[in-house]
Amino acid sequence: MSAKLPARFTDAAAARKHLERLQWPDGPVCPHCGALDRASAIKGGREGLYFCNACRSQYTVTVGTVFERSKIPLNVWLYANHLLCNSKKGISSHQLSRMLGVTYKTAWFLTHRLREAMSPGPKPGPMGGEGKIVEVAETYFGDRDGLPQAKKNKKGVATKRIVVSLVERGGKVRSFHLKGNISKDKARKVLFTNVDRQSDVVTDDHPAYPGAGAHFAQDSSVNHSAGEYVRGDIHTNTIEGVFSVFKRGMVGTYQHCGEQHLQRYLNEFDFRYSNRAKLGIDDACCADLALKGIIGKRLTYRRTDQA
Ligand SMILES: [Zn+2]
Repeated sequence: MSAKLPARFTDAAAARKHLERLQWPDGPVCPHCGALDRASAIKGGREGLYFCNACRSQYTVTVGTVFERSKIPLNVWLYANHLLCNSKKGISSHQLSRMLGVTYKTAWFLTHRLREAMSPGPKPGPMGGEGKIVEVAETYFGDRDGLPQAKKNKKGVATKRIVVSLVERGGKVRSFHLKGNISKDKARKVLFTNVDRQSDVVTDDHPAYPGAGAHFAQDSSVNHSAGEYVRGDIHTNTIEGVFSVFKRGMVGTYQHCGEQHLQRYLNEFDFRYSNRAKLGIDDACCADLALKGIIGKRLTYRRTDQA
């Protein structure tokens, strides 16, 4: 690694300090009892160890996260995160392995963990709102897993993986891997659980959307199959741009992605789009938001190499 890199990417203690500043802006918070600033630093023990004077237990900033039990130094985690957050079309585990000087398996593990950190979590809150436009569209990408050879690489969408995305114009994107087909029920569930009812919703002409869109302030669609793409404000061009970056990244960078991992890759691309410079979020800030995700989610360790 180059000497010009910030210390948090080259030095584990600096990386720990960085995480502490991010996670504890008002001083250490005990993960066991929630006490704020009742901690004493323990000298001479493990790096970053605190003693809670309220519940008399010990902790570090990484307790309960994947960082805690990982043998990968914290600065390597932070550098991997920085690279992933700032590569528009993603970064392959092979490339990351070369850049970080770690094995391919380690790089693979790192990126899958970081993708989980980028996921919006169980209750991400509604998109859109009064006077805001939310575009809804679907795309088909790659063959579904488990197809017989004769059905692979066929034209048409029947054997393809399905992605439905919602994008708030001038805002964030959220994408969903739907299994099997796009039914009205599935389209409704995605819309109703993610979009504020005050929003203006623009869909394309997929038959799953009519009816669902009627529950929003305004419901418009463009009829792609009749050759219509834009009618004033009514278009899904923003989302088509999102799909295009995703597909170029998946083809150019990732190449092989099992269907069971597709949602994680979607989370990764969504995260970068939703935390882009146009929304006033610079590269370092985007990376810090992902780190807050990994700590905030308190990931438990699982063997991802079996997945
Ligand atoms: Zn405590």
